[in-house]
Formats: sequence, structure tokens, C-alpha cells
Amino acid sequence: MEAYSRYSTYRSNLIDGTTTCVATVQEFLKRAEEKKHLNAFLELWPEEALQRAKEIDAQIQSGNAGKLAGMVIALKDNICYAGHRVSNSSKILLGFESLYSSTVTERLLAEGVIFIGRTNCDEFAMGASNENSAYGPVLNADDEQRVPGGSSGGSAVAVQAGLCHAALGSDTGGSIRQPASFTGTVGFKPTYGTISRHGLLAYASSFDQIGPITRSVEDTALLCSVMAGPDAYDATMIQKPAPDFALTSPGKKKIAYLRECIEGEGISPEIVTGMKKLIANLQAQGHQVEEVSFPYIDYLVPCYYVLTTAEASSNLARYQGLHYGYRSANATDLESSFKKSRSEGFGPEVKRRIMLGTFVLSEGFYDAYYTKAQKVRRFITNKTEDILKNFDFILMPTTPTPAFKIGEKANNPVAMYLADIFTVQANITGMPAISIPGPTKIGGLSWGIQLMAARRNDVELLSFAHSLQESTATHEA
Ligand code: GLN
Repeated sequence: MEAYSRYSTYRSNLIDGTTTCVATVQEFLKRAEEKKHLNAFLELWPEEALQRAKEIDAQIQSGNAGKLAGMVIALKDNICYAGHRVSNSSKILLGFESLYSSTVTERLLAEGVIFIGRTNCDEFAMGASNENSAYGPVLNADDEQRVPGGSSGGSAVAVQAGLCHAALGSDTGGSIRQPASFTGTVGFKPTYGTISRHGLLAYASSFDQIGPITRSVEDTALLCSVMAGPDAYDATMIQKPAPDFALTSPGKKKIAYLRECIEGEGISPEIVTGMKKLIANLQAQGHQVEEVSFPYIDYLVPCYYVLTTAEASSNLARYQGLHYGYRSANATDLESSFKKSRSEGFGPEVKRRIMLGTFVLSEGFYDAYYTKAQKVRRFITNKTEDILKNFDFILMPTTPTPAFKIGEKANNPVAMYLADIFTVQANITGMPAISIPGPTKIGGLSWGIQLMAARRNDVELLSFAHSLQESTATHEA
């Protein structure tokens, strides 16, 4: 099977008979077996995927195949798919099967995708390294001593290692973009409210968005064109029809880069050099690229962690061992059932966040933390909007460093939280942001270029990212 980079080429191969969906799924299953030690998948669905591949091959033969016919997709283990297990990589959902399908899986199935399995992630999507999974860490395929990023680490590695065409992730504070940057893939978080959250296990509902991890921006746009648009099951969605996600030639753009994201402390010198080169190249191509100061960077991570832990403490209250999932065998009455099921079912990071969230919402501290963080959220949003009144995009690295070593930050939650410093702004503000691979690797490791746009400028953002990816030509053509 030739190296995959975009669906359009694969589709032509399906149509002219150079390949079939069955052969493609077989090859992915074989590779997944060979790469099992990466721990990207929690479960594969081989019989079902092959059966579906047969059906799609028949549809292609008869000329009535859907827009994404035969695209093989991995699902992050927090996206519900009826009749399939979903656990959020947590013991608390041990043995739980989805009773219904998320809107995204239904829309994708209607256009002919093949789901191949569910991928490992940080427990309840809380983490930046995939080390918080109850099912063990995921290894970065570029360097197996290193993390793939998180929380959608399994999804990113499934794409990176060529175990599927594309994967879905969820992004609350960078969980699609940060692993994409660590694995040399493309990760996109759309404007909040673009893609339905129905059937996504909630972490922090006012931040969560589903999005794709792919090899090309072209595939990202294609997947979004199918997934986006109002859904009666998600009241927080943008009510206007979604854009068509047709990529256009972007023309000359005005781009701001944040001084603090290039000159700040702790940014790897190679990333700084890469960003400076990129800025010079963009200027040489006729784009207007200017430095802007955003002296609020230090407020982003605290604001994010106060608000997301507060929302998580409320969202995760439903896991108590009674309705579904894990129930402690040691419980003697209702209260001990709650306590023991949660104590035994949740891992340490999830417990830390529930406690933090409960604290910031508690009487006497609510105003000092939760209300203040809401004000900071508004302030950051206003200041970011101010920049985007004068510029089309904001440019920065996706993360301050390339992938770190497994274990390097595991015992230091604050150091781990700071890995999110450049990604949380898009979730705090609800703005769309994409990570595409930087043009040259650093010591064999990938890094990401991040672009952010004003809310609902997703198509402009993807069009520009597409032209940039084509010009840096980092994916196999
Ligand atoms: N790393 C961030 C966190 O731990 C982002 C998680 C996410 O986007 N789901 O919360």
C-alpha cells in the first residue's frame, strides 16, 4: 500500500480498481498488529471493519458511494458508537457499552467511512502525554522513549504510524493539536459549536470540541464538511448552517505572531529558529506578518485549569457506580458504593481535578476563583478578538518543545499543565485553531505550527493552513 496522504488519491485508486477497501482494511489490521506495542488502540473491530469494507467496495462498484467511502477512521475512546465499548481510558467505565451513537459517528457512517477501532487516551481526556490512561501509555512512533502528547495520543499515533487514514479526537485545551504537533500530523479544533458534542463523554462542556487528526489539511476539511452543522441534540451549537469547508486559494494575508510565544522562557531554541524562518518565508511570499504583544500568556493556563476542573467536577458526578460502569465489590451501602466505586475507579489525575474543581466552586472560594476565572476568560477573549480585528490569523508554535520523554513530567502536574500554554487560548476563546507539521524535524522529532482565527473563520483558516502545508510539503506527496 503506498503511503497515504489524502483521501482524493485513495478514492481514485478505489474507483480505478488499483486498490479495494477490503485490501486497505486488511493492511491496516496487519500493521496495527505489528505496532501493537505502541498501545495506540484499546480495541480493534476487525470482523466488523472487513464486513463494512466489503459493503463499501460494492457501493463503489455500483457508483453510489458516499463522500468518504472507504476512509478508515479510528475513534478516540470518549466518542460513543452504539453497541461498542467506550471507557475514556478509565476503569470507572469498565465493560460499558454505548447505547447510542454520537452525531459525528452517524454522519460519518452515512458517507461511507469504516471505523476500525477505538484509541487510547488520557483518562477522561485529562492530560498532555497519554500517561494518565488506565490502560498504559502510548508510545510516540518517531521515538518510542517519548510521549505522543495527549489527551488524544492514541488517535495521533494511529495516524502517525499508518494504522488508519484519519482519527477523531477531542480538544478541550489542546488535546487534538498538541498530540498532532508531537507526531507530525495535522490536528484541528473547530470554532466551538461547529461540530456536535452529542455522544462525546463530557470533560469541560464549554471548552470541548471534537475534531480530526489527519495527514493533510485537505482531509481535515473533508471530514469537517461531513461532521459540522447544527444538531438538535446539542443546544450549544452555532444555529446557522455550517460552511461547506471548500478550500480556496487564500491570497495575501495579515498575520500576527505573538512575541511572548517566540521570546518567552522555556521555548526550544530550534522551534524559535523554525518560527523565525517561517515568518521570513511568509513575508517573502508577500504576506504581511507582524509582531504583536500579548502579555497575558501567564493567565491562560490558570484560567483554563480553574474553569475546566470546575466543569469536570460537575460533569463527572454521574460516575458513581450505580448507573453504569464500574461498581466496587466492597460497597456495603449507598454511600460506601459512591465512595469506593469512585476511589477505585478513577485514576489520580482525574481525582486531583475533581477535588480542584469542587474546591473552586465551594462556598467562600467561588468568587475568588470561579467568578474571577470567568472574568479572565472574557478579558482574554476580548484581547484576542482585538488582535483579530486587525489580522486574519495569529501564528505561534503549537507547543514550546517537541515530544518529551515518558516519565519526564509525570510527577510534576504543574510542568505538565504548562505544556498546554499555547493551545488553551483557542478553547478559552472558542476560536478555531490548527496545528500543522513544522517543515524540518528537530533531532528526528516533529513540532507543530499553530494558526488561530476569529470564531467562524474556520474555512479561511483551513485554506491558509492547506496552502502552507502544500508549500512546506511535510507530508508524503
Ligand atoms: N492537556 C490539557 C488537559 O490536560 C488538554 C486536555 C484536552 O484538551 N482534553 O486538560
